[in-house]
This record gives sequence, C-alpha cells and structure tokens, in this order.
Amino acid sequence: MPHAADRYDVVIIGAGPVGLLSSLCFSKWGYKIKHIDNRPLPTKTGRADGIQPRSLEILRNLGIKRKLMAHDPARVYDVAFWDPLPEGKGIHRTGNWPSCPSFIDTRYPFTTLLHQGLIERAFIDEIAKHDTTIERPWTIVGFKNDGKDSTYPVEVTLKDLNTNVEVVVRTKYLFGGEGAKSFIREQLGIQIFHKDPISHVWGVMDGVVQTDFPDILTKCTIHSDSGSIMVIPRENNMVRLYVQISSSTDPDWNPRKTATVSEVQEAAKRIFRPYSLKWDRVEWYSVYPIGQGIADKYTLDHRVFIGGDSCHTHSPKAGQGMNTAFHDALNFAWKIHLVEGGFAKPSILTTYESERKLIAETLLNFDAKYAALFSSRQPSAAEVGAASNNDDGSANTTNQFVEMFKSACEFTSGYGVVYQPNIFNWGPDHPAKSPLFNPQGVKLIPGRVFPSCTVTRLSDAYKVPLEQEVPANGSFRIHIFAGNPDKTREAINDFALNLEKKRSFYSSYQKEDSTNFSYFERHNPHSRFFTLSVVYSGKKGASTIDQLPSVLRAYKHHIYVDDIPDIRVPNAKAAAHMKLGFDTENGGVVVLRPDGHIACTVQLVRGSGTVDALNEYFAAFATKPLGDGNSQARL
Ligand SMILES: Cc1cc2nc3c(=O)[nH]c(=O)nc-3n(C[C@H](O)[C@H](O)[C@H](O)COP(=O)(O)OP(=O)(O)OC[C@H]3O[C@@H](n4cnc5c(N)ncnc54)[C@H](O)[C@@H]3O)c2cc1C
Repeated sequence: MPHAADRYDVVIIGAGPVGLLSSLCFSKWGYKIKHIDNRPLPTKTGRADGIQPRSLEILRNLGIKRKLMAHDPARVYDVAFWDPLPEGKGIHRTGNWPSCPSFIDTRYPFTTLLHQGLIERAFIDEIAKHDTTIERPWTIVGFKNDGKDSTYPVEVTLKDLNTNVEVVVRTKYLFGGEGAKSFIREQLGIQIFHKDPISHVWGVMDGVVQTDFPDILTKCTIHSDSGSIMVIPRENNMVRLYVQISSSTDPDWNPRKTATVSEVQEAAKRIFRPYSLKWDRVEWYSVYPIGQGIADKYTLDHRVFIGGDSCHTHSPKAGQGMNTAFHDALNFAWKIHLVEGGFAKPSILTTYESERKLIAETLLNFDAKYAALFSSRQPSAAEVGAASNNDDGSANTTNQFVEMFKSACEFTSGYGVVYQPNIFNWGPDHPAKSPLFNPQGVKLIPGRVFPSCTVTRLSDAYKVPLEQEVPANGSFRIHIFAGNPDKTREAINDFALNLEKKRSFYSSYQKEDSTNFSYFERHNPHSRFFTLSVVYSGKKGASTIDQLPSVLRAYKHHIYVDDIPDIRVPNAKAAAHMKLGFDTENGGVVVLRPDGHIACTVQLVRGSGTVDALNEYFAAFATKPLGDGNSQARL
C-alpha cells in the first residue's frame, strides 16, 4: 500500500501541450501533481507551431505569453493563394485573405508561429516555479480505479525507463495526455471513430531558404501542376513547408509511404517554379501520418480522463492540434479545481466531455470542409473583401462562401469555441429561473468568450485589458458593470450586503480567515472561487472608491472606469458598457467561468434580486445550499 507521500491530487501522463497546460494550472492552484513523460528530453524543435489568437489570450492569462514573444515568433496576418498558370508556366498569386479578419474582436489578429519545443519549454519553466517537476523518462504500465481508498481511488503503476523500477502511487484523478497513441485510452477500451475515412501522410520541413518567391513571409497555399504545398513563415528566418506525400485515395496508397528530405526539397523546388528556392539549412523534418479520429468517450468513471490528441486527431492544415489541446486542458483543470476545492458537486465533471467533445466534433467537420475550401474554389477579391470587412455580415447573408469564410476564421481563431447551454452556461432551461438573467439589450451570450474591453484601473490610472486583469486563478470572475455611481449606489450597496449574508454563494465559500488577508492579495481576498471587479461608466467612479462597501473595497485593484474609446462602438460614452450592451446608467453584472467564457448575465437592481439570482445560478452545482430558498427575485 503506498504511503501518504505517494498520494497525489492528479497524476498526469504526457508532457505535450495538454499535459503541460493542465499541470501548470494545478501547480499554480496548489494541487499535488505527479507528472511524467516517456521521452528522456522535452521536444527540441518542430511539431505543432501555430498559436491561434484565443490561445495567445489564454497563454497571457497563464503568464507565459511574454516568454514566447521573447523568441520573436513569426506572425501570420494574411493567407495568400497561389495557383497554376496555364501551359505549365508555373504559379501565380490568385488571392489572399486575412488570417483573422476584423470582425473577430481580438487584441491578437494573427497566428503566432513558434515551434512546439519553445512552447513546451516556456511551460516547463513556469511549472517548475510552482514546485512540480516533470519526471522523465517514465511511462505508465497500469492503472485501476479500485476504490480501495475513497479519497484516492485510482491506483497507478509507473515505470522509470532508465532503471526499469516500478512504483505504485494513488491519486484522485488520472489524466492521459499521451497523444494519439494513448495507452490509457486503449486500456479503457475507448474506441476512436474515424469521421473522415481518408488518411494522409504529410512531410513537414522547417528550415532556412533563400528565394525570390514574393510571399515567403506570408502563409500560402500553393497549388501547382507539380503538386501542392503549404508555406508557413517561422521564427529565426525559418519557413515551414507542408507537403502531402500520400493519401488513402491514391491508387497506390501505402500508409508507410515516406519521402526523404531531398525528395521533399526537390518537390518544393518544382512547385515553386518559376521562382527559385535554395535551402541554407534544415532544422527539422518529419513524416507525419494522420487520420481524422475522435474518441468515443473522454472518461468512463470521472476519475480517469483523457485529453488532447488522445481524444482527437486531424490534419495540420488549420493549425488546431495544439490549440485544441490547450482548451481541453484548461476546461479539465478548472472543473477538477471546483470539485476538489469543495465548491462544486462531482457531477459537473460530465461537462468536460460534453463541452470538449462537441468542439472536437465541430473541429473534425470543419477540418474536412476547410480542406475542401482550400482546394476546391478560390474566392474572388470582392468576396474576400466583403467577408473580411463587414462586421455585422448583414449584407452578405446570402453568400454561402462568405458565411463559410467567416465561421472558418472564427473557428480557427479560437473565438468560435462556443459552449452550449448547460449547468455553467445559463439558458432558459437552467435551474436558475430569476427573471433578472439575460437582461434586455445585453449582447453577451453564455458559452462564448468574453470580448476584449480596455478600461482605466483606478488604483494606478493604467489603461488595462479587462479580460486579462484576473489571471488564470481558477476563480469565477464577477464583473459588476456599475454604470453611473449616482444611479447605482444603492444597488451596489445592496449587492454587497447580500453577498455578505451567511448563505450567499460568496460567504458560503469564504476562506477560513477571510478578514485577515494579505495587503498584497489582489485577486482572492476572501475566497478561492471568486474575483470581483467593479467598472463604472464615467469618470465620477473615481471619487466613489472610498465609498464602496468593504467587501468590494477589498478588490481595490479591480475598480475601473470605462472611459477608453473602442473602435467597435464609435462615439460611445462608456465603450465597454455599450459594446457589451449594459445600460450606461444602470449597469449590470456578468459572471465569467474560470476559463473566461461567459456563464451568465444578470440585471443590477436594488434589493436582494441580483445576489438572489447568482445564488440560484451557483446553487445549481455548488455543494452547499445557497440563498434563502426564495428563488423568485423581484424585478
Ligand atoms: C511527429 C509529430 C509531428 C507533428 N507535426 C505537427 C505539425 O506539423 N503541425 C501540427 O499542427 N501538429 C503536429 N503534430 C500534432 C501536434 O503536435 C499535437 O496536435 C499536439 O502536440 C497535441 O498535444 P498533446 O499534448 O495532446 O499530445 P502530444 O504533443 O503528442 O504529447 C504527448 C506526450 O505524451 C508522451 N507520452 C506518450 N505516451 C506516453 C506514456 N505511455 N507514458 C508517458 N508519456 C507518454 C509523449 O512522449 C509526448 O511527450 C505532430 C505530432 C507528432 C507526433
């Protein structure tokens, strides 16, 4: 029987993107982690490389964006299309489109290109700061949820590949992030379904070239009489070339078909004609067989879970593998945190599979369509212009191509990750029935990502991105858009008063000594599960900080004024209020999940109504009864 030292909150197998991001969250949030990988060294170079705009937001929130940007990665703003000229005269540019068009509301309208080795290293360094070490080369040889210990029900047998010594540990949860050939998935007998039966073998080459091809610093798809290639600019003057070596639709299909470096280089030279292409050096080359597949289940018992490539594989064309792995990991981590922190019932863990599997299915469908979009029909310049620049899409609704283009861009950027109504994403079927939910005029849709808003932080007058002000701390973020303080003073006071009531969602989960928090505590003075902020609509807010009730004054670094213009709401007096649809006088409240997706919006009213509604919302999954049981808020 393992002794206490061999008991962990989570054992993580695999230190690719999904394992690393989950490990970082758990380590930051104070959990005891055992994290192993079977390779002696982390990825040195190559493999996945495209960080999509929404993923960059997540990485910033986790505190590692600066480390990545220090490598001066390439940024892809535009995609160019090259097609054959008649009579074998080579290729010419036939169109281009923005990689992240202006209708997508992001601070990062580009894909960041950096090889997986550098990305993994940034995670590993940050994880080490929180006292978790990734042990290598170790593998998993067995596991069982035998329930012999009700707190640590899963027994895991691990093997040190240097010494062949096996150790047995117990854990609350086991997370399989071992990539496409997942041992855990196989042991659980979870089937992989192949949506698109067609498989491909890709040759991927990173290196430095000299060329007169004018778009070498742009992402390009090139179709030529000699074959097709995808070009992706990279850090350190490098370029990545993806060449499809074979496909299961080929008459002589052989999944083990391969190509040497020089064969791919020669193929690339032929495709680039009439432009020259000379290789200075090759940094990485891999032949990468891939089929579209999705795991039937992401868990069987809500103790052993899988994520990332263990659950879904697809072509590298849209650059989604690593990004989807990031989203899986974050979704998994905050839900385990809510349960293990004692806030939420274990039944919420079902939403990991229901939310993430639906996104993976959408991704696979999209991957197939995206491939067709790239190869079957090139857009006209007018269509691309219309799709890129039109924010509301109203003029284009009949144009199928434009609609496809928009949803494709939104999806690949990561802002198209929209979770359906469930216990976390409020909708009319949610158990919380207060009439104050979803106030009229508010444009925020539960399940979507909270948009970017720039506001002024009152404590130091910095202009700050509101969506980044709370780091990834595993807490719900409650933004109180407080409108005009002269109008909302009473509502804010009532909000605070009701928060402090014994059975409120907030008081029920306070830290043991919540009155005695550190002077330097910015985000979680009272509770591990909530960070509050107040955003006034006008400058007057500045004078009201001292008059805020003490529960809100504890968040002195999270009091803001909404006085920064936003191009999306020209001439707005309070741009963030207007953009989100909150009344600039009377405000409103938005609750964000710990991953930054919108949970619910509630009207800000005098009396107990707003907190009553939130009590109802949280009571749907909290471990304690909340509120006074009188769920019908008065309008
Ligand atoms: C050779 C290769 C080339 C790729 N090239 C591209 C590309 O060009 N573009 C692109 O978009 N995507 C590419 N991918 C896919 C991309 O890397 C993945 O989508 C992404 O890394 C998914 O992250 P993950 O954490 O789920 O899995 P992975 O990154 O695969 O990480 C899994 C980790 O688990 C470890 N592991 C596996 N089994 C065990 C075990 N039994 N015990 C302990 N550890 C284990 C592995 O060593 C690895 O470190 C490539 C993948 C591979 C394998």
